[in-house]
Amino acid sequence: MSGSEFQLIQSYFSEPEQALQSELSRSDVLLGIGDDCAIVAPKSQMNLAFSIDTLVSGVHFPLNTSAAAIAHKALAVNLSDLAAMGAEPAWFTLSLTLPDYDETWLHQFSQSLFALARNNNVHLIGGDTSHGPLSITIQICGYLEQHGGLKRSGAKVGDIVAVTGALGAAAIGLDLALEQNRALYADLSDNDKQFALNALNFPQARIAEGLYLQGIAHSALDISDGLIADLGHILQASNVGAELQLDKLPLATPLVNLEQTLAREKALTGGDDYELCFTLAQEDWSAVKQKHPQFIAIGIITEEKGLRLYTAERQLYHTHSGGYDHFG
Ligand code: ADP
Ligand code: MG
Repeated sequence: MSGSEFQLIQSYFSEPEQALQSELSRSDVLLGIGDDCAIVAPKSQMNLAFSIDTLVSGVHFPLNTSAAAIAHKALAVNLSDLAAMGAEPAWFTLSLTLPDYDETWLHQFSQSLFALARNNNVHLIGGDTSHGPLSITIQICGYLEQHGGLKRSGAKVGDIVAVTGALGAAAIGLDLALEQNRALYADLSDNDKQFALNALNFPQARIAEGLYLQGIAHSALDISDGLIADLGHILQASNVGAELQLDKLPLATPLVNLEQTLAREKALTGGDDYELCFTLAQEDWSAVKQKHPQFIAIGIITEEKGLRLYTAERQLYHTHSGGYDHFG
């Protein structure tokens, strides 16, 4: 490790800085940043869940994304994977590849990273730093109850298909950030545009919701690639099909002000929302809905394979970007 690399880690990512910024303390971290390895002492009687995600500049986020948004998103997408499994976040490591040593950028990046880490009681315990095109990899680890885990493969015929919140805002945010399809959004207010950009840049991982659904949901995942694509993974893994009711689809705030077909497309196929999609037995739905009114039932699991979308008038609906036959 070179002198400047050492200084970078000391200045922005090491313990004193973390402690100052986040007042994080986890008694299960025996050794954090600074040695050859981190050492943790996991609670007994619990399993560990691992996930890793890489964000590459220009691929996973637009080039003009702020350091704060990049840091938030890099950690949030990992937290979201834990949420989708019903796990409780514990520790993460960070591999940073940086094009240059930009103090302002690093300051904003680390502030945002530790703010989200603090909110989720997840501790940065190590990482790696190298020089090259901007890329951020985070590996996260969390606690999972023994015999727990919200898998994709557990959906049963007759299950309700539900989501934890409204969809489609991040997809509009991406269009806005890339300044594409501008004519479609001419009528959106500045507030709506800000909401959409915020959804794209600062997604919220549904950790509490995932923990709650542990032991209730039969299957779950987080919606990163779009509802249709991601629900398709549940259907395939569970060897079942589904019917969705389009009029039940919860549209994020900015979509309500868009033309209906466009709004539906964004909610069905837009990525980056990070709400959870899950299935559960019909008899459990009313208790779940009472506890979490923001959860929305959008359909039902069927024996017939594939995904079928119906309008309120029971008309079969085909999306512009492919429909149920992709998964037939
Ligand atoms: P090594 O040469 O043994 O791999 P490094 O020089 O890469 O060690 O890292 C020194 C210490 O700093 C290690 O504890 C490592 O986990 C930590 N570290 C390096 N880069 C980061 C980073 N971006 N974020 C957090 N910790 C880091
Ligand atoms: Mg290293």
